[in-house]
Amino acid sequence: MFIDVHCHLDLLEKEIKLKKAVERARKKNIIIVSDGIDSETNKKMLEYFEEYGVKICLGVYPDEPGNIDEEIEFIRKNSEKVWGIGEVGMDFVKGKSKKQETVFKKFISLSKELDKPITVHSRKAERECIEILEKAEAKKVIMHYFSGNLKLVSRIIDNGWFLSIPTAVKRSEHFQNVARIVPIEQLLCETDSPYSHPDKKFPNEPVNVLESYQMIAKMKGLNLKYVEKRIEENFLKLSK
Ligand SMILES: [Zn+2]
Repeated sequence: MFIDVHCHLDLLEKEIKLKKAVERARKKNIIIVSDGIDSETNKKMLEYFEEYGVKICLGVYPDEPGNIDEEIEFIRKNSEKVWGIGEVGMDFVKGKSKKQETVFKKFISLSKELDKPITVHSRKAERECIEILEKAEAKKVIMHYFSGNLKLVSRIIDNGWFLSIPTAVKRSEHFQNVARIVPIEQLLCETDSPYSHPDKKFPNEPVNVLESYQMIAKMKGLNLKYVEKRIEENFLKLSK
């Protein structure tokens, strides 16, 4: 089986027939993990879980408004249906934020408490996210769309965490390098649908995750079947 470990089905639904997109992925044996970003989309994810049988992560994206403690309670209550915590993290594009740090720490605690993976957004806050995760001794970490330098990538490897390779790897030298240097035991794949289309189109969809697998196979000189198997093992390890 293949896995798209991070996408946003609610945003995709605004662009195309979601049912068809889920079917296209299913035909290729692709498991979908879709992430919420706030109270409204977290509820939506639970609907998708029931309706399409997809796996879901619930969380609050940096700076999304709402009551964080209430949201955490909501996630706790639904934890049996939830695969992981996400999309959470920090985004310092508009400057550093103490509040984002506080919220991020709460979600790390939640992921540890529930013993579920955490999918981390770290744009322009790559080093800071790593430091916080290290201090919290987080283990089941997925660094999503990680754009930090290769030194930070090495630090992620040393910590035993996972990096997910987006479909943009097809045209991104950075992610091709990441795919090359990260051991296969620590790789996952994602589309970040509807964004990040391998050919810069819109929208992207889960079936395109195969592009990430193909690129990993190419960069590492491995065959696709082998890459598929190994990444499946990574996913199952996180799912335990
Ligand atoms: Zn995302």
